[in-house]
Amino acid sequence: MSNQHFETGAVRNQMQRSAFSEHSAPVYLTSSYVFDDAEDMRASFSEEKERNIYSRFTNPNTSEFAEKVVIMEGAEAGHAFATGMSAVFSSLAALLNSGDHIISARSIFGSTHGLFTKYFPKWNISHSYFNVNEADRIEDLIKPETKVIFAETPTNPGVDILDLEWLGEVARKHDLLLIIDNCFATPYLQNPIDYGADLVIHSATKLIDGQGRVLGGVTVGKADLIREIYLFSRNTGPALSPFNAWILSKSLETLAVRLDRHCENALKVAAFLEKEEQAEQVKYPFLKSHPQYAIARKQMKQGGNIISFEIKGGIEAGRKFIDRIQMCSRTANLGDSRTIVTHPPSTTHGRLSEEERLEAGINPGLIRISVGLEHVEDIIKDLKQALRS
Ligand SMILES: *Cc1c(COP(=O)(O)O)cnc(C)c1O
Repeated sequence: MSNQHFETGAVRNQMQRSAFSEHSAPVYLTSSYVFDDAEDMRASFSEEKERNIYSRFTNPNTSEFAEKVVIMEGAEAGHAFATGMSAVFSSLAALLNSGDHIISARSIFGSTHGLFTKYFPKWNISHSYFNVNEADRIEDLIKPETKVIFAETPTNPGVDILDLEWLGEVARKHDLLLIIDNCFATPYLQNPIDYGADLVIHSATKLIDGQGRVLGGVTVGKADLIREIYLFSRNTGPALSPFNAWILSKSLETLAVRLDRHCENALKVAAFLEKEEQAEQVKYPFLKSHPQYAIARKQMKQGGNIISFEIKGGIEAGRKFIDRIQMCSRTANLGDSRTIVTHPPSTTHGRLSEEERLEAGINPGLIRISVGLEHVEDIIKDLKQALRS
């Protein structure tokens, strides 16, 4: 199966058929599974047999979803979670010990930042941040207790690009785990394992679901690491609902076709914004003006669906722009079939101090657009009237 094209695997890889010979994989809403006899039970609990025991551990739908992402990312193994954040938290908590140190890009998802700054210090796990434009100096941050390099690329909400090949080299050279949150790129546009990532994490809530319906997460990568993460999760309970897993598995079937259109629309919207007087510093990975355009071209198949820009006039202009939007959605999600506009400084990153925001490259007029699947002319029309009025 491994030499199949991405699209074919996405559609054709599914769980084993049941005795009912169904064509499309069914939902297995069951909390537990039955055993033939005492010996079957003993062998299953001792893991001599690979089988489902209890849906906090595994379930046919959650396993199918994780396995599909494993194949798409070129990983050895994977485990699915209730949310992207439970994937981030459980993966790090399973692998890190008190005293360990994380090196991370400063531009990371707000709740991951919360984890690093508010909760991990409680367990004596520390971190050092680097700015995306100083990634070449990350080796200076390595300490004897450093265990992990963590990064997102493209970053949220700044849409900066980190060089995965370089991060992979540093991780290998210093024997560190490289963990990449690949949420913005999806397994279709970028495969960090090709560049030496040990683990790849996704919030499946975003482009993998793609229609703003369910929450989910997944971690894939090296089998021995996934085993530790699985055992941690089996005990602590961040299990993905089988129903959500079923939705997400079906969504993966259309990931490539949806992403092709998302990216085509996004490139056109970005090109439009670049010419608008009110929009400055338009950032989209596949625009030639993007500061890391060459790296984006090297490691991504297409530019993704997220664009950032700065509206002239700062925080008030940003809020006014959001108020004037007519068709696009004002909501916190991203990676939806519906185009979404947000003003991160007053919303998702509003809890950061002004200084923290500026350090993370979040200027007062920053607008983030998650370009959807409406006709691109209608998306541009709405943005145009909100910018120009
Ligand atoms: C949304 C998001 C998460 C968290 O995912 P949830 O499913 O909302 O818990 C993590 N990382 C990135 C980059 C995200 O965009």
